[in-house]
Amino acid sequence: MTAPTQAAPPITTVSQELFARARQVTPGGVNSPVRAFKSVGGTPRFIASADGAYLTDADGNTLLDYIGSWGPMILGHNHAGVREAILEAAVHGTSFGAPGWREVALAELVTRLTGTQKVRFVSSGTEATMSALRLARGFTGRKYILKFRGNYHGHADGLLVEAGSGLMTNADDLGQAAPSSAGVPPEYAGLTLVTEYNDPAALDALMAARGHEIAAVIFEPVVGNAGVLLPTPEFVAALHRSREGGTLLIADEVMTGFRLALGGATELLHLTPDLICWGKIIGGGLPVGAYGGRAEVMEYVSPQGPVYQAGTLSGNPLAMAAGLATLTALESDPGLYGRLESYTERLAQGLAQAAADAGVTVCINRVGSMLTVFFQAGPVASYTDAARSDTAAFAAWFQGMLARGVYWAPSQFESIFVGAAHNDAELNATLSAARASFQELKEAK
Ligand SMILES: *Cc1c(COP(=O)(O)O)cnc(C)c1O
Repeated sequence: MTAPTQAAPPITTVSQELFARARQVTPGGVNSPVRAFKSVGGTPRFIASADGAYLTDADGNTLLDYIGSWGPMILGHNHAGVREAILEAAVHGTSFGAPGWREVALAELVTRLTGTQKVRFVSSGTEATMSALRLARGFTGRKYILKFRGNYHGHADGLLVEAGSGLMTNADDLGQAAPSSAGVPPEYAGLTLVTEYNDPAALDALMAARGHEIAAVIFEPVVGNAGVLLPTPEFVAALHRSREGGTLLIADEVMTGFRLALGGATELLHLTPDLICWGKIIGGGLPVGAYGGRAEVMEYVSPQGPVYQAGTLSGNPLAMAAGLATLTALESDPGLYGRLESYTERLAQGLAQAAADAGVTVCINRVGSMLTVFFQAGPVASYTDAARSDTAAFAAWFQGMLARGVYWAPSQFESIFVGAAHNDAELNATLSAARASFQELKEAK
């Protein structure tokens, strides 16, 4: 048999083959955009299995994972306690459309750990923020909401306004901005006011001008979705001041909840929000979101109150089992958050040293087990700052890490997540891959 002379380049890997098939039947080949590797280039790895700190792709390559399913897998993949709880629940039926004991047990645990009084379970973080905002509007009788530039709160219409690393436009002095997605009517976007994160004077000014019309201020207490941004104490004080005229303060802890502490960023930063939204870790790798707060506000939710919100799969027994097992494991290991902190601190120091040795300028933002390496001098305190990063340099460094078996978050504007299965061997492997990738980046320049 002779080889054809003008053959198309062969599909060489299972991931490439799956991506080609996926693109025929799914927009962009993925079910959530960042998975497509669009901002770093190349073919996304299709994952066949995961265990501890590692993923195995469809070609059998082992990858050291820093995404942790974008946060939920704080205990590591395939954790025995979580797996057994899911299997045990599945034996008794997978969905009832009627209440069950696990919903009660998880609600008791969540309210106790977070200092809230009542909680409602939904199936994603998007549903949690969307529902909390409807509740705030129902409770206050006001129609505007206020969010911060580059904070991401899921993909509900009114929240796709200056929502992170997508298309960004500038809000005017009254906080009005254009939608950051096609398909969002400007009338919806018009009900969402936007101002800069970590700018207490701008927040005070907007509240003074329009506070009486604003149902809720929603914020990421520590931002993960513009890369990691830490709030200044002055900004936290301004957030608390924004409640004075009856506006509800909504802490979107979908990413930070149960990650920065058992009581989330609310505990860590001594916040006093009216409502908190959760997702990610609360479901231990299964689809769960939730929102909660003090009884007086939560009792506005149907069937107790007039604000409608429902879900066929809300409180699903498998999802509740995974959440219960995850939060129970976190609570029963009091040293865990300290270990995550210590690993991530050493990771930050090692990365900074490796970059400096190679002559690559970076600014590393870190809190607890969340970290972003910004390819710029910094400081990075807002989305506007983050947007100055050298995204081409990040992409090249990301590819260097991936080629060495380290699966970093495939965008400059994301956090990485360290989990309980990351130990010294993983730290050393990561830092030697990082050192080589920084050197390679320097030599390419
Ligand atoms: C992930 C995330 C969401 C959206 O949650 P989904 O489960 O993806 O809908 C909302 N807010 C924050 C802060 C998030 O990190």
